[in-house]
Amino acid sequence: MFSKFKSMFQDRCPECEQKLVSHYDHMTLTKHCPDHHYTEETYNQLGVTIVYRPNRNNE
Ligand SMILES: [Zn+2]
Repeated sequence: MFSKFKSMFQDRCPECEQKLVSHYDHMTLTKHCPDHHYTEETYNQLGVTIVYRPNRNNE
């Protein structure tokens, strides 16, 4: 159960396994792959997370 829960919070790029780079500002937490395979934006005040995976369309 805990491992399933933990998988919701990505710390590594699903494409290349590199550690994601985190950036905080007053409204947003952004995590992205150094090679831009994956980007995750969390808007704390809205409770919304947006995930960009540009290569996902190729599957
Ligand atoms: Zn990557």
